[in-house]
Amino acid sequence: MTSIDDALAQAVRILENTSATADLDARVLLEHSLSRTHAWLLAHGKETVHRDELERYRGLIDDRRRGEPVAYITGWKEFWSLRLQVECSVLVPRPETEHLVEHALRLIPQHAQYRIADLGTGSGAVALAIARERPYCELTATDVSIEALRVAENNARRLEIQNIRFLCGHWCAPLAGLDFDLIVSNPPYIADGDSCLLHDDLAHEPVTALKAGPEGLDALRDIGSEASRHLRSGGWILVEHGYGQQQAVRQIFERGGLHRIVCNQDHSGHPRITAGQKPVTRLTPYRRSDSDDDLIQPSNSAITGA
Ligand code: GLN
Repeated sequence: MTSIDDALAQAVRILENTSATADLDARVLLEHSLSRTHAWLLAHGKETVHRDELERYRGLIDDRRRGEPVAYITGWKEFWSLRLQVECSVLVPRPETEHLVEHALRLIPQHAQYRIADLGTGSGAVALAIARERPYCELTATDVSIEALRVAENNARRLEIQNIRFLCGHWCAPLAGLDFDLIVSNPPYIADGDSCLLHDDLAHEPVTALKAGPEGLDALRDIGSEASRHLRSGGWILVEHGYGQQQAVRQIFERGGLHRIVCNQDHSGHPRITAGQKPVTRLTPYRRSDSDDDLIQPSNSAITGA
């Protein structure tokens, strides 16, 4: 007879050598196998786990021990305030990517009717979070993977987010003739030879969502060179990148004709998100918003020049 508390303790022992979050993983997977909440598990720790349920749970713990991300095992991941469905065709949305959403929202007044593009949307995480927070904006999310777009579209449908459309293609390729007030992207930015790709959860995730050439800059270069063509005068681009890449991204943005380039740190103090603006032309009046100044002088940012 194995109780809930025993099953959890056994699972933690199995996972603690391979996962830094063994306790959490064991609990989330038990909640998933029993279709119960965290509160229910806490209140019923002495109850016996049925044999079939225990076997199923042990199977899931074994998948996790072999490195499969918890989100792929359960099929779900929380991002921003959204519960997103994920599968192995999309990157598991990361908590640090919520910074990209935060910074984007600072550039979009609450009632703005901006056109916003998310390049390489994967599960749709970034685009859906912005679309939910700014219901008057129109989001266009692109991805080269049709499987990823299917996941993202299903997420939009299930969450009843309607101010978004999905287009298949590489970065800006499906955006011919369109321009935007804001472009956001969390592209792949890991260098091809980086040993982190072999370890842990990353080995299970789609390699095209993670690695980007010898320096990890290929996708950022493509995006930086194409973005200006799809930004309105005075429009902004915001990208997430690796924490050693801020100088390279600055140069990419400069070469792409952007200015007011600013790098912001993540909560661990690593440079993580770079913003750049398409210069305002005299012909098209730029709709200035107060949030521009927030971005240029944010209290917690590493300003690498403006
Ligand atoms: N935009 C998606 C996310 O941030 C996918 C990113 C990617 O596949 N590189 O989760």
